[in-house]
Amino acid sequence: MHIAFIGLGNMGAPMARNLLKAGHSLTVFDLNAAALASLQADGAAVAQSARKAVAEADFVITMLPAGAHVRAAYLDPEGVLAGVRPGVPLVDSSTIDPATIRALALEAGKRGNPMADAPVSGGTGGAQAGTLTFMVGAEQALFAQLQPVLAGMGRNVVRCGDTGTGQVAKICNNLILGISMIGVSEAMALGVKLGIDAGVLAGIVNTSTGRCWAADTCNPYPGVIETAPASRGYSGGFGADLMLKDLGLAADAARSVRQPLLLGALAQQIYQAMSQAGDGQLDFSGVIRQYLSQQERAA
Ligand code: NAD
Repeated sequence: MHIAFIGLGNMGAPMARNLLKAGHSLTVFDLNAAALASLQADGAAVAQSARKAVAEADFVITMLPAGAHVRAAYLDPEGVLAGVRPGVPLVDSSTIDPATIRALALEAGKRGNPMADAPVSGGTGGAQAGTLTFMVGAEQALFAQLQPVLAGMGRNVVRCGDTGTGQVAKICNNLILGISMIGVSEAMALGVKLGIDAGVLAGIVNTSTGRCWAADTCNPYPGVIETAPASRGYSGGFGADLMLKDLGLAADAARSVRQPLLLGALAQQIYQAMSQAGDGQLDFSGVIRQYLSQQERAA
């Protein structure tokens, strides 16, 4: 299949490479010339605009930072909708607000292009390994068309409902994740201060009712889990600024339906303080540093 792939950043570039490995031919576009050159070296054709990239495509995928970038990539005069042939399916895998994807799908539908949202979880490691989970918002018939292509980049391709519901699933999952990481941080810092060994405490939590991903896979206390960002100075992983963005999406979506987010709002402010302190690029588990003394941070 001939696929147009737009947005070749930390996630998009490895995803595009996996599509090449799966035997698809690709035309790619990004605003960043270095990202284009790198995919060209791997066998993709490059285009100078989104409109040109999609001209011959049978399938279009976008992987962009936020809603404003996605709107621009589809609606600008040099954007996707100006160049794509009617009937070609469009898939946006960025994490954005459900309202934006639903509005874009309406515009695309007027031109005869079905559109789905398919945000991912699994991070850059999952993007490279081709083990992402895709949370797909698409009508059943469109999902059947997308599934085999997305399977080239992920292990789980799950239909959540109609267009927009993939984003709903993604922001609700990350709402839980953002809050639970703060809960685990608070408890680990307290336990150590009260005299228990961090590894022993984590072991108890992870065989008890406090168990969750933030405790058993990405434990924020340094040295508890060798492979966690906490054991390498909170480098790599999922940046606090990205978590802040996702909690902002949850807050905006909640406002649109008058749904209270009590802990979500507090979590958003806690990550905002982390970002203000200059730590927004650190893994979000670095939020535990707000609970540690200077001495503990330095250890
Ligand atoms: P990134 O910033 O590394 O890459 C985005 C790319 O889009 C850049 O190369 C940029 O030049 C390009 N771009 C921006 N506007 C464009 C436009 N109008 N036309 C063409 N190209 C344009 O971002 P990323 O880490 O790859 O994340 C992409 C999306 O995936 C985000 O919504 C993010 O929240 C989500 N996500 C990221 C991770 C992660 O671990 N990085 C995990 C899950 C989901």
